[in-house]
Amino acid sequence: MSLSIKTPLLHSLPLSQCVGAKVWMKMEAMQPGGSFKIRGVGFACEQHHAQGAQRFISSSGGNAGLAVAYAGRRLGVPVIVVVPETTTARARSLLGLEGAEVIVHGKSWFEANELARSLQTAADAFIHPFDDPLLWQGHASMIDEVVADGVRPDAVVLSVGGGGLLAGVDEGLRRNGLDSVPVYAVETQGTASLQASINAGQLVEIPAVSGVATSLAARQVCRRAYEVSRERPVIPVQVTDQEAVEACLAYLDDHRTLVEPACGASLAMLYGNKTPLDERSNVLVIVCGGSTATIESLLAMRG
Ligand SMILES: *Cc1c(COP(=O)(O)O)cnc(C)c1O
Repeated sequence: MSLSIKTPLLHSLPLSQCVGAKVWMKMEAMQPGGSFKIRGVGFACEQHHAQGAQRFISSSGGNAGLAVAYAGRRLGVPVIVVVPETTTARARSLLGLEGAEVIVHGKSWFEANELARSLQTAADAFIHPFDDPLLWQGHASMIDEVVADGVRPDAVVLSVGGGGLLAGVDEGLRRNGLDSVPVYAVETQGTASLQASINAGQLVEIPAVSGVATSLAARQVCRRAYEVSRERPVIPVQVTDQEAVEACLAYLDDHRTLVEPACGASLAMLYGNKTPLDERSNVLVIVCGGSTATIESLLAMRG
């Protein structure tokens, strides 16, 4: 049994036209919970469940928390999600809809996470949003599917928050013999923690995160994501909040799928043709999705 689904791999004419190469979209926005997160989270939850975990605990009010809530409901395991006061009513109600117990605590993620950790007993499994080898192993399955569908990408475009997606895609590429394929790692200007580490030549924390791409708001990427940037070609790309939001709206018109600015960041790189790509190349973009945005919120962010 797998909690994630096999998603479509679709060719995009509009995006191909923008970059002058063949663009393939891995439609992770169609996963249960609305993002790729269920691949890794689902895999991790299944392992913990098999080992007897009686409760799952998360401190993410975003897509990771939603994925844990979904996994818990499907596996019949109770879920607690501790979120900070800043978490939107929409996110809280989506978590409630999945049957998770939502505890609102603290001004920021830091306090919420502290409480979540303190609740953990030996019978619980704490599910981290990005820093866990089980997550990366689960995320890697999206690349297995792309290769099984007959596409061996010459370049990959993805968004980077804490770097779990990057670590998982790297694992998937490596296990399919695609070790040297370059990865365009896209962040918004207010969340560019991977680029900060790449520039510093070591894992560093940025002083603050800001902007509309809340699912990318990690002040430091996981060590594995930084290591990946040393082991294969990883090209950091930055886009503005405005570009990310406009890309979401353009994508909605072009492909009838609503995604968060965190995903819009990757799409903005393609819409803005930010990096020259060879016209014969097959470019794979991970349409990572996200459930926290609405049309109204995107239009409001547009200002
Ligand atoms: C979590 C998430 C990301 C970032 O993934 P990381 O593993 O934290 O780098 C990007 N987009 C969406 C929609 C997400 O939910």
